Amino acid sequence: MNKGTLLVLSGSSGVGKGTIIAQVLEKRPELYLSVSCTTRAPRPGEVDGVNYYFISREEFQTRIERGEFLEYAEYVGNYYGTSMTVIREKLEKGVDVLLEIEVQGAAKVRERMPEAVSVFIVPPSFEELAQRLRGRGTDSEEKIQKRLETARREAKEIKNYDYIVVNDTVDHAAQEVLAILTAQGCRTERRIHEIEGV
Ligand code: 5GP
Repeated sequence: MNKGTLLVLSGSSGVGKGTIIAQVLEKRPELYLSVSCTTRAPRPGEVDGVNYYFISREEFQTRIERGEFLEYAEYVGNYYGTSMTVIREKLEKGVDVLLEIEVQGAAKVRERMPEAVSVFIVPPSFEELAQRLRGRGTDSEEKIQKRLETARREAKEIKNYDYIVVNDTVDHAAQEVLAILTAQGCRTERRIHEIEGV
């Protein structure tokens, strides 16, 4: 049986990853969206175990020491990390897994799992990104400036990704992510053993 595809998705904070992912999952409910651990506080409406596992810095440190993370990174003053166990289990069972992580984490995943497919989602422009972050109304102006600075820094990493998707409209961006997944499933190494006489 084929292993699942590990799809790593990154993009500047506020670019609309969450909305795109929701649409992708609607079209492909069999895709497993990994739930990360974080030390940041939940935003209004976020649910523990659904959006993230919200844990303390101490707990996060302990898990780092135990080697539980496939990758982790510090981002705007908080830790974020992907637990290894569930991801491995799903991939072994042939389930496609989606990780929504920032650039340092994505670099780690590419290093440890070179078969992973990585996609960077960009906004149509930086002005648009600033507007979206303000419109969200969840962060202070200082935090927004920090996130924009981070976004500019992160843009330098785009060249290391396999694919770029521009979030001009959510429909279009989601369609492109789905197309990448579909193409991945058609790769010769995945299909060849299903063809008789080859
Ligand atoms: P937010 O605080 O907006 O939910 O997320 C901030 C950033 O952390 C986003 O770029 C998001 O992709 C990233 N992130 C979320 N979970 C993980 C994770 O498990 N590992 C890493 N490296 N980044 C993550």
